[in-house]
Amino acid sequence: MKVIRFTRSIALMSYSFKVINSTFLKQLVVPVVSVCNYVMLRKMGNTFVEMEISSICNSRCVFCPYVDITKTDKKLQVMSSQTFGKVLDKLRQVNYRVISFTPTTGDTLVNPEWDTFINKSLSLDQVDTILLYTNGILMNEKNIEKVIALVKNDTSGKIFSILFSLGGFDEKTYEFMFGVNKFKLVIENISRLLSRLHEEKLTLLVHLEFRIPRDYKLDLNVVKRAVNPAGYPFTGVRVLREFLGIEGLKRYPEISYKEDICVKQNACSYLRKTRFAADGGVWADGCVVSELPGDFTLQLGSVDDSWDTLETKRKAIIDGWNTNRIIPFPCEKCTMYRNDNVSLKNDPTIPIWKTLYV
Ligand code: SF4
Repeated sequence: MKVIRFTRSIALMSYSFKVINSTFLKQLVVPVVSVCNYVMLRKMGNTFVEMEISSICNSRCVFCPYVDITKTDKKLQVMSSQTFGKVLDKLRQVNYRVISFTPTTGDTLVNPEWDTFINKSLSLDQVDTILLYTNGILMNEKNIEKVIALVKNDTSGKIFSILFSLGGFDEKTYEFMFGVNKFKLVIENISRLLSRLHEEKLTLLVHLEFRIPRDYKLDLNVVKRAVNPAGYPFTGVRVLREFLGIEGLKRYPEISYKEDICVKQNACSYLRKTRFAADGGVWADGCVVSELPGDFTLQLGSVDDSWDTLETKRKAIIDGWNTNRIIPFPCEKCTMYRNDNVSLKNDPTIPIWKTLYV
């Protein structure tokens, strides 16, 4: 709990454009944030939920298996309020504290009830942090006002951050990365949101994650001038130039893919996390590769199963890996692997700031 609060305060302080643009402060602060995030995952992964309220997406990102998933039998859908009610019942039974409205593949705002679901999540006593991830295509005026209303209604300060996923800072690169021609719209949407937050004097971390090709030059001063003319202070940037190097996703010479250099002796830390899928499925982990097209290895069950049943399945996956070296299919080639069973000091995945927060 204390680590979460500490991480939240550090993140809010650090991810302003002012700080991120200061090399000295960046060097000091970013590794601290990275360590906090890593410790949070390692020590508290089992308090972290990924909520996929839409498996339907309005982008076709080059780094995501979504396009391949659309070719399978999977029924893409938004989560119904009935299913969401069952999810909340599950969460009341366990000690979850962080809810990230982050679909594995899909966009949160595609579900028209997204704000109602977040409002309902605020009522869970044990939840103290709520995040929302989106590509921003649907962050139109109506949804901006929903954000404003949500943050005003959030008297306990649980809604921590909105994260926007972006691809480059020009139309051509954005279209290459996201597969749709929405660059101008997204920038206008984010800019309008920042102005409204500023006008209303609200505190919400608005975080931009740029996913860009290997040689792409991103000038953060240009970004700042275009996206945040209002000067809203609680904004941050993260730039990702390396993408998951799993087969099927390695298609483009312009993109750098992470190499799988990990020795996967022990189960991955991310298996402690839980994802509630739009169709009512419950999965271990919530990363984008945890549900590869047509693969259900990491599915624990559904919202209709008892929590004990779901945890028994999770334990079987983790024990199978630790004891018998049965590595789940999506994990075999996954470059996000985090060793769950070594001291932080000896972890081969360190330096972690190279993979978590760059
Ligand atoms: S190895 Fe990759 S797919 Fe497997 S649990 Fe870890 S992050 Fe998820």
